[in-house]
Amino acid sequence: MKRIALLSQRLANQIAAGEVVERPASVVKELLENCLDAGADRVEIDVEQGGAKLIRIRDNGSGIDKDDLALALSRHATSKIANLDDLENIASLGFRGEALASICSVSRLELVSRASSAVDDMAWRVEAEGQEMAAAISPAAHPRGTTVEVRDLFFNTPARKKFLRTEKTEFERIDDVVKRLALSRFDVSFMLRHNQRAVHHLQAAQSMQEMQRRVALVCGPAFVENSLHVDVEAAGLRLWGWVSLPTFSRSQADLQYFYVNGRIIRDKLVSHAVKQAYQDVLFHGRHPAFVLYLELQPALVDVNVHPTKHEVRFRDGRLVHDFLFRALHKALAEQRPQDRLATGVSLSSDNSGTDSWAPRAPVFGNADAVQNRMQFGAPETGISATSQWSSSGAWSAPASARQVADQLAIYTALQKDDDVPPLGFAIAQLHGIYILAQNRQGLIIVDMHAAHERITYEHMKAAVQHEGIRAQPLLVPVSIAVSQAEAECAEHQAGALLALGLGVERVATESIVVRQVPTILAGADIEQLVRDVLADVLEHGSSERIRNHQDELLATMACHGSVRANRQLSIVEMNALLRDMERTERSGQCNHGRPTWVLQSMDKLDKLFLRGQ
Ligand code: ADP
Ligand code: MG
Repeated sequence: MKRIALLSQRLANQIAAGEVVERPASVVKELLENCLDAGADRVEIDVEQGGAKLIRIRDNGSGIDKDDLALALSRHATSKIANLDDLENIASLGFRGEALASICSVSRLELVSRASSAVDDMAWRVEAEGQEMAAAISPAAHPRGTTVEVRDLFFNTPARKKFLRTEKTEFERIDDVVKRLALSRFDVSFMLRHNQRAVHHLQAAQSMQEMQRRVALVCGPAFVENSLHVDVEAAGLRLWGWVSLPTFSRSQADLQYFYVNGRIIRDKLVSHAVKQAYQDVLFHGRHPAFVLYLELQPALVDVNVHPTKHEVRFRDGRLVHDFLFRALHKALAEQRPQDRLATGVSLSSDNSGTDSWAPRAPVFGNADAVQNRMQFGAPETGISATSQWSSSGAWSAPASARQVADQLAIYTALQKDDDVPPLGFAIAQLHGIYILAQNRQGLIIVDMHAAHERITYEHMKAAVQHEGIRAQPLLVPVSIAVSQAEAECAEHQAGALLALGLGVERVATESIVVRQVPTILAGADIEQLVRDVLADVLEHGSSERIRNHQDELLATMACHGSVRANRQLSIVEMNALLRDMERTERSGQCNHGRPTWVLQSMDKLDKLFLRGQ
């Protein structure tokens, strides 16, 4: 056995660095957090060779007093907390007092700072030297604020250095860190350069428009165009930010930013709550995108659970989970076509060329342009004041006299330039699949089956919750040959099926009879409907589980009850569907998360035809 000896300071720091400084990006994270903690509103980041050669970060924050410079580089030295009370109410990003010491022990670090409180109005430089990391301090030139330069990261820890990936990969991680922090502080401007080439220049953002612009620069314009802005407050918690429409889902969970009191975190509880909120609207296996900020009293969240401070612990996890779930679920449910149109952003994925965040001409309110366009022939549109099918779910052909009167009313509405509903008026049906409609902004295209399916589903869900599903007996009961297992299932689960409006009876070992179906599904292919429901029920087993999977069953049923492709619809029926969509929760996506409608704005159509260029 060797004798016990104290570790040298540098070695102790190098060991600690193992936790905090994994790669260049972790250095950038720690240094940037220090800038923000110092109250800077401008930071510049210069990186060379993916950060392996150089990371230089300059801020205009409060700076460090000359007398504190040596301490700044020592371990367990911090200006951010002094006692346990402080630890429980942390408002700063840093508090462990080990970042600079750790980085310094595995690189060539130089820090130059001029404190705003400096009486001598001088800037000073500090470097750490030797095994004991004695600080060497010398005068320097620097404006108010601090510059930290980290060269040759891991030059003295070759094992670590070997783990570094390519320059490109390491820089991508740095870029990611900068983006994450840039989204946490809109009021700070960020400049990032790699090998002397500017990568980001994010101006400080104050107004909502400027903030959205930053989100668009960081997350891509398509995200902002396809997201909802939320801002909800309850029980001392506030949640705000942007969440993607379910139709803008991603194959990976790569566009998800969640901040707790300004600190980016990854948290299972949070992911779970968000996932649940999207459950009913997201295509299976897809991930939502979001930039969300949770604000709560610092005392209600413990940030001191992990050295990199990526994780937090909520004092009341259940409350936070429920709050997140409710807030997002509601925001997604309340989404109506009019909201999406009212944001004034086009829903195209075409982000080419021009700055899509420049203020646009208000298409919606531009009366002249719309009028002119609408005068090319009176659109043949018709609408029923109240939709016939939302109440009964059936397609009823209205009287032709009424149709004419309706058309007149619509024509007048278009002429008057007001009262045009968000999804506009139907013009035609395309290949028995799409409804074409005209609204103020241009052309609306609706996937008629997808839209109707969602409407039927939402109706059924609401019915189950309130008065129960209305059912009607079949004039001619339908008998179906099934497997013995299915027949048994129908027999045992007759009660549960009845609650869903399906009256099913077993009449032989391998035969059942359907006597009653939900009114809303009267027109459906009953046999196929019941077969699919039985298949679902068999999979779920017990009545208990059926109740838990009720929504899935309703979705299966809704799919059968919805208008099939190639059904000819009258203009009136099409308009009734459009009006129903405007009224129905989550009508922007079908039950599988695909979009139910898109807008082709006049701008976009004009571009297609090179008009006005
Ligand atoms: P922590 O951030 O956990 O306090 P660090 O090792 O990151 O620990 O920094 C140590 C101290 O150095 C900080 O508490 C702060 O007082 C000072 N400091 C570091 N970077 C800056 C900066 N950019 N501007 C002003 N002060 C700084
Ligand atoms: Mg720090």
